[in-house]
Amino acid sequence: MSQTLIPAAKPIVGDDERAAVDRVLRSGMIAQGPEVAAFEQEFADVLVGGRTCVAVNSGTSGLHLGLLAAGIGPGDEVIVPSFTFAATANSVALTGATPVFADIEPDYFCLSPDAVRAAITERTKAIMPVHLYGHPADMVALGAIADEHGLQLFEDAAQAHGASLDGRPVGSFGSFAMFSLYPTKNMTSGEGGMVSCATDEIARNVRLLRNQGMERQYANEVVGFNARMTDVHAAIGRVQLTKVQGWTADRQRNAAFLSENLDGVVTPPVADGAVHVYHQYTIRVADDRDGVVKALREEHGVGSGVYYPIPNHRLESLKHFAPGLELPETEIAAQQVISLPVHPSLTQEDLERIVTGVDAVVKAGA
Ligand SMILES: *Cc1c(COP(=O)(O)O)cnc(C)c1O
Repeated sequence: MSQTLIPAAKPIVGDDERAAVDRVLRSGMIAQGPEVAAFEQEFADVLVGGRTCVAVNSGTSGLHLGLLAAGIGPGDEVIVPSFTFAATANSVALTGATPVFADIEPDYFCLSPDAVRAAITERTKAIMPVHLYGHPADMVALGAIADEHGLQLFEDAAQAHGASLDGRPVGSFGSFAMFSLYPTKNMTSGEGGMVSCATDEIARNVRLLRNQGMERQYANEVVGFNARMTDVHAAIGRVQLTKVQGWTADRQRNAAFLSENLDGVVTPPVADGAVHVYHQYTIRVADDRDGVVKALREEHGVGSGVYYPIPNHRLESLKHFAPGLELPETEIAAQQVISLPVHPSLTQEDLERIVTGVDAVVKAGA
C-alpha cells in the first residue's frame, strides 16, 4: 500500500498552544493558579451557559470527584450504560457504589429511558448517561424519570463539548457533568477534566476533594485527593477553547459529507432537537466488522476505531457487578460499530478516499 494512512483521530496542537505553555513556564508559576481559574471561567461561559466549572487532572477524576461531591457512596446504585469507556462505571465503583448497567437505544447509542426505568431499585440514587460519540443522550426523558423517582441526574460529557439538546448545552442538565480534556477528545489540555456543577455546594465539594480537602491552606476539612490541574495544562486548554467551535463545525461538515455519500452501511442519525458534535462518526456494518476494519486500513489507508468492542458488563474488571446480565442492543452494537475518521484535519481527498474505501470493502464482503 503506497498511500499514507488517514488516522482515526488527530489532536491539533500548534504555535498558539506552544506559546501559551512557554508563557506559563517562563512565569515560574506552574502549579494550579491563575491560568486554571481563567480556564474554568472561560469554559463555563463558552460551553455550559455560565455554570460553575471546576478543573481537575483528568476526566476520570472529574467523574469520581463529582460523584463523591454529590454524595454517592457505598450501598448506592448508579445506573450507567455498559456501552461506553470503562471510566464511566469505574468512577462509580471507586466511590464504593454499584454501577448498574442499562441497555442503549439503537439509533444514538445512548442510554435507553425504558431500560433505565426497568433498572431502578430502592437503592438507586442516580442516573449517569453518556453523551456517546458526541450525541446528546435523551436528557428530557431521563430527567423526567429522575424527577419521578427522586433520583439525581449526572452527565458523562467526556466526548460531547458543545453538543446540545433543544438549544440547551450538554453539561447543563445534571447535578454535575464531566468533560474530558484527553488529547483525542474534541479539545485537550494534555490531560485534564472539567466538572460543570449545578450548585455552589457541589462545586465547593469538588474543589475540596481536588485539593486534599482544603479550602484554606492546612485547614483540611475532609479527606481528599490531589486531583489538581496545572497552569501549564490550563494554558493549553484555554487556547483550545478558542478553537473548539470551529473544529466542531469542521467535524459536522465532514460528517455531512460522509452521510450523503456512504452507501450500504448504517450512518449515524441525529435525534430531533439534538446537535451532534461527532467526537466519533460511527457506522454499523452487519457482517465481519473486524475484517472491514482491517481491509480499510490495509487496502485503502483508512484508519478507523472500534468503540467499544467489549461492553463494560462483560469486562473482567466489572463483570462481577452484573452476573448473567443480557443487554441485547449493547451486544449488537459492540459487534457492529466502526468509527471512521471525522476529525478537523481531514482534506476533501481524505473524505473521498474514506467513502470509496468503505464502498469497496462493504461490497466485496457482500
Ligand atoms: C475519555 C472518557 C472518559 C475519561 O476521561 P479521561 O480524561 O481519559 O480520564 C470517561 N468517559 C468517557 C465516555 C470517555 O470517552
